[in-house]
Amino acid sequence: MNRVVDGWLQGVARLPTPNVDDRPAGESVELVVIHNISLPPGEYGRRNVQALFTNALDPRAHPFFAAVAGARVSAHLLIERDGTVTQFAPFDRRAWHAGVSEFDGRPRCNDFSVGIELEGTDATPYTSAQYETLAQIAAELCHAYPMLAPDAVVGHSDVAPGRKSDPGIAFDWPMLRSLVRYFLEVRPA
Ligand SMILES: [Zn+2]
Repeated sequence: MNRVVDGWLQGVARLPTPNVDDRPAGESVELVVIHNISLPPGEYGRRNVQALFTNALDPRAHPFFAAVAGARVSAHLLIERDGTVTQFAPFDRRAWHAGVSEFDGRPRCNDFSVGIELEGTDATPYTSAQYETLAQIAAELCHAYPMLAPDAVVGHSDVAPGRKSDPGIAFDWPMLRSLVRYFLEVRPA
């Protein structure tokens, strides 16, 4: 995976979102929050997620969109089904993905986390390309942000239990954890 330079993953598409602001003073990246999204749910590769995160989703294009268009949300990264990565915000700034949330007794996870969206649904198996790309990125983030521990990669459902269910029952945590360990070991210095 490409390195992180000035908060941006090298070699991936950039689509800057207006839904971003500064992290509070003193906050860095100490957590990765995994989400899923697809618009409409279960339909892939239509670039509607990219539209949502840049406030360009047409609320009239699908009945489901009326409820989410204008939500002013974002994530740092989207990983599509084929592993294609788009970055919407630099990791040094705060994306708006976790909402009301708490990790290890600390509220407001957006302040100190990177948000990564996997194109998908809670119950649909994710693709090998998504796991491999996600794990490589997590390993790179651990190197770029020393306060981020490899185990501090969690689901939205972990930081907003009862309110959020993503990445869902289909997400294979043991697979992700072993892949992150693998990429941390093989990563050249
Ligand atoms: Zn989520």
